[in-house]
Amino acid sequence: MTKRDRSSYRAIGRHHLATIPQLERLKHDQRLALEAVSAVFPFRVNQYVVDELIDWDDIPNDPIYQLTFPQAGMLSPADLQRMVECVRGRDRLQLAAEARKIQMRLNPHPAGQLELNVPEIDGRRLPGAQHKYRETLLFFPSQGQTCHAYCTYCFRWPQFVGIRNLKFAAAEMETLARYLGAHTEVTDVLFTGGDPLIMSTKVLRSYIEPLLAPEFVHVANIRIGTKSISFWPLRFISDPDADDLLRLFSEVRRRGRQLAVMAHVSHPRELKTPAAQEAIRRIRSAGAEIRCQSPLIRHINDDADTCANLWQSQVRLGAIPYYIFVERDTGPRHYFQVPLARALKIFSEAYSRVSGLARTVRGPTMSTTPGKVLVAGTTDIGGDRAFVLKVIQGRDPSWVNRIFFAKFDAQAAWLNDLEPFFPGREFFFAEPLRQMRRGLWAPPWAIDADLEQSAPALA
Ligand SMILES: *Cc1c(COP(=O)(O)O)cnc(C)c1O
Ligand code: SF4
Repeated sequence: MTKRDRSSYRAIGRHHLATIPQLERLKHDQRLALEAVSAVFPFRVNQYVVDELIDWDDIPNDPIYQLTFPQAGMLSPADLQRMVECVRGRDRLQLAAEARKIQMRLNPHPAGQLELNVPEIDGRRLPGAQHKYRETLLFFPSQGQTCHAYCTYCFRWPQFVGIRNLKFAAAEMETLARYLGAHTEVTDVLFTGGDPLIMSTKVLRSYIEPLLAPEFVHVANIRIGTKSISFWPLRFISDPDADDLLRLFSEVRRRGRQLAVMAHVSHPRELKTPAAQEAIRRIRSAGAEIRCQSPLIRHINDDADTCANLWQSQVRLGAIPYYIFVERDTGPRHYFQVPLARALKIFSEAYSRVSGLARTVRGPTMSTTPGKVLVAGTTDIGGDRAFVLKVIQGRDPSWVNRIFFAKFDAQAAWLNDLEPFFPGREFFFAEPLRQMRRGLWAPPWAIDADLEQSAPALA
């Protein structure tokens, strides 16, 4: 796998479908549908994904094809038909207008992401950051808001189709530094996107290096959320600044911090290629650790064999299984969603087959407004079936590790499909969340002293 270098990284988007000869295997109506659906959802692949990851003998069912190529089933039959007509009629303006209408119907900003998590310092908001959990600050560098390829199920699709205008100027790095200086409870800064490793090492370094200064010694862990091991492993091998990236990782370690690569790996095939394995080897040699996470997605990885295989492949390569998520309540979820009961069954079956080293994985996990909620199991209470749920990350740290119960519902696919098990009660976080939304309550770290009288900290 040395035949490619950075000059061969080329994003293949919807206007370049003709450059993928493998697509000639699609039937005419499948091809029209691909063009129609890719006008609504972001689409991007590259030669590595096309040549090394997709099994073209098995399209359209191939899991990596499902992961990267928009599927007809992602639209309702009525929407699909309208879009296909626009493609047939070559009506570009109409196509764009219909696409935007559909996009706006798809709940572009799930789980209170926009209004509840934006941190503030000295009366200024940090629009490129989220501080939802006490220990971890999420940071979205503006130059990292795209990826080497796009996942069809991505919940961040609004930022790729230009709905969200997320800008974080380099000058804002200074605001971030001030925020971190005032928030010594933050032990982790998690760079996310998009994929921060779309950035050159030089730009990434400009974000990470300042955090290594002694005044930020409380930031013990620098994490980078990325799908590059899967979508462009050459980022760690033969890109012109690949060696420099690994030097940056080593430097973080030398200065007493941990560098954790939070790898998004959806399917074991992503770890089969020599390039992916070499990438992992090099990252680990640089002293960084790799933790792997992914949602459980219908058509892609929703069976016990695939999950067990996924976690075992990770352990074999020296990576640590971390989270399995439930597909969020946004975008084309009807196509990808796995009901909680089924997700739990798949997860448990796979979990029971692997050794303890792979059981560091936690799931199925919902990333919801109150926090990360684990579907821990089902149980029988007085003859009625219940979901046992557990908060594993909470907007209020006192919620963490709390167990609560919901009525069993085989169709429920998200927290807001669930009803509290005990009649007449609410889930325990319902009232505090209402208070938070009204600005009557905020976790201690979200209260900016200067702002307390003027405006609710979490408005
Ligand atoms: C998942 C997540 C984190 C990181 O949580 P860990 O459990 O520490 O990995 C941080 N912030 C947000 C908003 C998250 O969703
Ligand atoms: S790698 Fe992550 S951010 Fe990028 S498209 Fe996939 S899910 Fe979305």
